[in-house]
Amino acid sequence: MAGELILIVEDNPKNLKLIRDVLRYRGYATIEAETAEAGIELTGTERPSLILMDVNLPGIDGRAAVKALKANASLRDIPVVALTAFAMKGDREALLAEGFDGYIAKPIDVKEIARLVQGYLDRPSPTPH
Ligand code: MN
Repeated sequence: MAGELILIVEDNPKNLKLIRDVLRYRGYATIEAETAEAGIELTGTERPSLILMDVNLPGIDGRAAVKALKANASLRDIPVVALTAFAMKGDREALLAEGFDGYIAKPIDVKEIARLVQGYLDRPSPTPH
C-alpha cells in the first residue's frame, strides 16, 4: 500500500524531481539525498521502507553505499534498489552480487516506477534473521 517512506539518493536534480513527483503523486512519502554519505545518514535516522540509490554519485558511489548499508546489522533489511543506466545483463547481475536488492533502469519510466517500487516493498526480506 502507498504511504511508505522512500529514500531517493540521486545527484541529478531532474531525475530526483521526476522520481519524487511520481512517487508522491502515487501516495508515497519521500525523503532525498544528493550524496551517498547523506543518504546513509538519513537511512539511520529516518529508517525508510525502501531506498532508491543512484549508482553513479559524487564521493562515495552507490556501490560503496550499498556495501556500507548491508554491513550494518540494523539497516541491512532495508531494500536498496539501484537506479542505473547500465543496460547490459552482466552489469545488472553484478549490481545484485554487490548487495543491491534490485534495479530500476534509467531513463525512468514514469508509468512503471510506482509499480516497480511497490513490487520491491512487497517482497519478503531476503535476509534470514
Ligand atoms: Mn548520478
